[in-house]
Amino acid sequence: MSDNSFYGFETLAIHAGAAPDPATGARSTPIYQTTSYVFDDADAAASLFNLQTYGYIYSRLGNPTVSVLEERVAALEGGRGAIATASGHAAQQLALFTLMEPGASFVAANKLYGGSVTQFTRTFKKFGWHCDMVDVEDLAAVKLALAKPTCKALFCESLANPGGVISDLETLAGLAHEAGVPLIVDNTMASPALCRPFDFGADIVIHSTTKFISGHGNAMGGMVVDSGKFDWAQNDKFPSLTKPEPAYHGLVFYETFGDLALTVHGHAVGLRDLGPTMAPMNAFLAITGAETLPLRMQRHSENADKIARYLDSHPNVLWVSYAGLEGNKYRRLADKYLGGKAGSVFTFGVKGGYEAGIKLVEACELFSHLANIGDTRSLILHPASTTHRQLTPEQAEAAGAGPDVIRLSVGLETVEDLVRDLEQALEAI
Ligand code: PLP
Repeated sequence: MSDNSFYGFETLAIHAGAAPDPATGARSTPIYQTTSYVFDDADAAASLFNLQTYGYIYSRLGNPTVSVLEERVAALEGGRGAIATASGHAAQQLALFTLMEPGASFVAANKLYGGSVTQFTRTFKKFGWHCDMVDVEDLAAVKLALAKPTCKALFCESLANPGGVISDLETLAGLAHEAGVPLIVDNTMASPALCRPFDFGADIVIHSTTKFISGHGNAMGGMVVDSGKFDWAQNDKFPSLTKPEPAYHGLVFYETFGDLALTVHGHAVGLRDLGPTMAPMNAFLAITGAETLPLRMQRHSENADKIARYLDSHPNVLWVSYAGLEGNKYRRLADKYLGGKAGSVFTFGVKGGYEAGIKLVEACELFSHLANIGDTRSLILHPASTTHRQLTPEQAEAAGAGPDVIRLSVGLETVEDLVRDLEQALEAI
């Protein structure tokens, strides 16, 4: 497949980045379970190390199985290039590593996956990175935060975990660009089958491939995808890309690699020096999962929609936050950014608060009580007692994880079986 723009989304999900193995004819992508690659000769080795030719040196920087997944996800997102990582959190760190310096800051939406809030506001402090969390629906607050001279990026989730909140990507991209910084969108929950943030002006997309891209709950992974469209030289905010890199004899990434600068930097510096590389086996599992992404996202959304409607009419349920429901605050944004669908994951409030929430998750039989989303299996979680328990009550509430909140990740089982399971669990509380 030479020209990805020629093909439809379903075709790309199966073929992009892959070809029959030239050595054996193997039709599915082989797992290149190797750490290193033999150089043709000393000149070829020097050229690879100088980044003058593209090829494989050592699997911390790149691996043929992992490259197929990188090309696959880049094609699905409509991006220029991608960097696979060991997890979604590693992808967030790697993307920001290229943009940030000690003393720098970035702006992030306050409605994010709880682990991201902790990573951004606590752990990144150790690198001297500061995160300003704002309500991205308050555009004046976003503008003010972006105006800080140290600011390097705006970060949000397209469809936020766990609250079912949808970000107004086009508006946020406009504000980020006015401030001379890129918009980074975590597209994990929507996946490119429902939302392609680059079509609305985003510059970098992040994935936890652990979720819908793999889809089977069997492989950790992350991805940074670059649109290739951001002008890194428009100001002096991004020296990693626009100033000489001493470790590569003074090479300037943006000058040398143009629209691939961030992708090459992510491999040649980020993965090389931080080391959060995706394992080839995990790339193989994610490639296999990605083949069915469009079909799965359609069924995930249909099942979730039916369950949201069932819960909405249940007397023990206080509220349901699913953008597919009429009257939901984000319905208009779901139509604009998610093709009218609202994905698999949503929250609802259970009567009886914290204690009832814990009882409910324990009473479910078909829904598994665990801290993941995006599996073929249906999953249930009480965020306040698990994923969001490290946050202050105010942060948890702001992140959509108050005491009565239950999160579902609706899987691909027969929907009537899922409704029956929730029915008996809601009776048990
Ligand atoms: N982003 C979102 C929206 C997530 O839900 C998660 C994990 O739950 C992550 C990022 C982090 O990904 P990982 O667990 O693969 O590190």
